Amino acid sequence: MADDKCLFCKIINAEQPAEIIFENEQLIVFKDIFPKAPVHLLVVPKKHIASMNEASEEDSELITHLMLQLPSIAKANGIGDGYRTILNTGSKGGQIIFHLHFHLLGGGSGTLPGF
Ligand code: AMP
Ligand code: ZN
Repeated sequence: MADDKCLFCKIINAEQPAEIIFENEQLIVFKDIFPKAPVHLLVVPKKHIASMNEASEEDSELITHLMLQLPSIAKANGIGDGYRTILNTGSKGGQIIFHLHFHLLGGGSGTLPGF
């Protein structure tokens, strides 16, 4: 299931260090190494799915679980009252790491800057 060459699979398998915030059977949450906001987390399914374009009907429970965890992950990291969730798909969509992940961004005094 893991992809040997995938950085996030290596983090999941503890072959690569990361600042892990939370994990359960289905997902792992760690800090983005180049944060774009005071709190910038990556919420990552443990199953290797390259991008949303490769997700299938059989992943629907996993993806739903992941999305429904976002509020409690945000709350546990002090940004429960407002955060931005980003999902980049494909290099033209800004995706660099081809293992599905949601960015969870927030914190600071004002609203997050727009795009
Ligand atoms: P994306 O552009 O959506 O594929 O996002 C990939 C994210 O992974 C970027 O925000 C990177 O800063 C982040 N990243 C890359 N390498 C690491 C790493 N070793 N640990 C944590 N985050 C990383
Ligand atoms: Zn992977």
